[in-house]
Amino acid sequence: MRDFSQGTFQDCVVWAGPDVAPVRCASFAWKAGTITAMDLGETAAEAGGCRYGVFPGLVNAHTHVGDCFLPEVAVPLTLEEAFFRPHGYKYRALESISAADHVAHMTGFLREMAASGTVAHVDFREQGVEGARRLREASGISGVRSIILSQLNASPQSEAELSHAEMPLPKTAVDELREMLSVADGFSESTMNDLTDAAWRDVRSITRDLDRARAIHCLENDGYRELSLSRTGTGDLQRALDLLDPDLVVHLTVATDDEIELLAASGKTAVLNPRANAALGLPLPPVAKLMRAGVNLLLGTDNGILNGPDLFRELDFTYRLARSQWGDGRHPLPGEILKMATANFGRTHWGAEIPGTLTEGGPATFVVVDLTRPHFQNSRDLTGTLITRTSPGDLIQTVFRGKTVHHV
Ligand SMILES: [Zn+2]
Repeated sequence: MRDFSQGTFQDCVVWAGPDVAPVRCASFAWKAGTITAMDLGETAAEAGGCRYGVFPGLVNAHTHVGDCFLPEVAVPLTLEEAFFRPHGYKYRALESISAADHVAHMTGFLREMAASGTVAHVDFREQGVEGARRLREASGISGVRSIILSQLNASPQSEAELSHAEMPLPKTAVDELREMLSVADGFSESTMNDLTDAAWRDVRSITRDLDRARAIHCLENDGYRELSLSRTGTGDLQRALDLLDPDLVVHLTVATDDEIELLAASGKTAVLNPRANAALGLPLPPVAKLMRAGVNLLLGTDNGILNGPDLFRELDFTYRLARSQWGDGRHPLPGEILKMATANFGRTHWGAEIPGTLTEGGPATFVVVDLTRPHFQNSRDLTGTLITRTSPGDLIQTVFRGKTVHHV
């Protein structure tokens, strides 16, 4: 039986260091969860007969794996009809599935992640503490790291209450939040319009006290900004920065130039989900402008209803979209897009656990790809080929902190 707790690859290509750039490597070795050797040579423009390529395990920075058991159910539905609480199709379906079936579906979805090179994902998990527990179980079975950001099981404030900015988070919601955070890694909510300003301050202080993360969808469509403005006089992105101090801001699909500037000045990390936006008939996010503004960007596949978990498809789509928006035919370089699923994650709350880079002495969190495939052997830009042509069938092994979570 093969020993998956350690290993060595000779004369390979490693996407190494903070640039995640391909470099010839005489010997790449790991043991007990740590990279023990990385003997780097020259930059590898081509595969040059190497059999193995090693790149950092990918991070899918925005998912809702809870609805993975309903692929394409939203084809005839709008964003609001499919996904908004309390009557959106997703929430009704989540109420009816058994815990055992649900865990089995999510486990299968996470295994698909591992088979497509993803080692970790940041999930907006519905269903309160029970939802967090189900995903924690699926994560334990699959070996994929689920960073769980939980949502309260029901909207804690009524429509009437939401117009009163000073209304705090109700005591029952405070208790539920504390219980959720004993299982989850942090808190998420659909939009800033789901809580009052005072309630957001409560969320921020409780999560801060417990050292838990915060994330929020912003500017997925114009309605997010408009409703926030009509209720409070302030747009949803500005309120998120002022009141929540989020670790991740998700979507930015309709961000204006002023909002991009605001986000860049805040230093916050943004997560883009261009394929989900496209499937819902929304505009495509301003990737090129966000990159030029210097925003730290990550990628996500968003709802299981809309997308399978293969992050390579998101990398491919985002690369083409960013090039189209940039408009000069030369930018951005493929490496800048690959960083959105690797090194850029190292600049988040979870950077110590998952730096998204390969360095000697660092965590053994990596993927092995078969460079004998014709598209790699003939490639004139290995990173370009990696992000646009890799399919799960090219991958040999996925390792998270020394534990093999997928192999062929
Ligand atoms: Zn989402």
